[in-house]
Amino acid sequence: STVIAFDGISKTYPNGTVALSTVSFDIPKGTIHAICGENGAGKSTLMKILFGLEAPSAGRILLDGAPVEAGAPGFAGTHGIGMVHQHFSLIPALTVTENIILGHEPRKGVLIDRAEARRQVTELSARYDLKVEPDAPVSTLSVAAQQKVEILKALARDTRILILDEPTAVLSPPEIEELFNRLRGLRDAGMTILFISHKLNEVRALAQNVTVLRGGRLAGTVALKDVPDDK
Ligand code: ADP
Ligand code: ADP
Repeated sequence: STVIAFDGISKTYPNGTVALSTVSFDIPKGTIHAICGENGAGKSTLMKILFGLEAPSAGRILLDGAPVEAGAPGFAGTHGIGMVHQHFSLIPALTVTENIILGHEPRKGVLIDRAEARRQVTELSARYDLKVEPDAPVSTLSVAAQQKVEILKALARDTRILILDEPTAVLSPPEIEELFNRLRGLRDAGMTILFISHKLNEVRALAQNVTVLRGGRLAGTVALKDVPDDK
């Protein structure tokens, strides 16, 4: 079934840049879906809209067939959408626990103490088999370890849709393989995963479907078995 439907999404930034023009495509539940295209094609803008960081200028997003108010405050948390940012969203001076739990916008009336936050991180870390050191300052971690923290942060709120913006850019080949196995495991557990990439070998290794954007327009969406081997 379709979990995410982009329906005629357009985005013009306040400075007049047209980043997206009437982009429509569907993402089936429990699949890994790649978003490809040259620099400036509109990939990040589309993912920011899905994550609620930008409002579309026109068009709708449907989740499980129902239109949702894209750009509304708290949109990502409300709909269980997590994002692994390309340059990470972690605060280096804070610990892993502080970044994952305390760094989230406090929900209304909910304050949790450090011991409870640490317990939640340990539980998340076990559930997703992502080893992190709860008390380590993020600044002391390797880039790959920081990405694990970023991923746990993205998974911390009943996440069912996970977005990753060029997640392999900072990783070595073995780290990429580990990440891909992790993402396959999340997909097999029912999560829907979108990732931005411009490396076809990675897209081929991981994704079931790929959507290509060109100059803010949809160039096409294809199932990967339809991509010829020599491309
Ligand atoms: P991609 O992720 O494919 O590189 P982007 O979505 O980042 O593409 O950018 C699409 C277009 O929108 C580009 O021309 C980019 O310069 C422009 N753009 C992105 N963010 C902004 C912004 N905040 N303000 C104005 N223009 C932007
Ligand atoms: P990322 O690498 O995470 O895609 P970028 O490095 O492309 O982010 O952009 C950094 C920030 O600058 C983003 O918030 C983006 O929206 C903004 N931005 C990107 N392109 C433009 C642009 N042409 N004009 C104004 N802001 C932009």
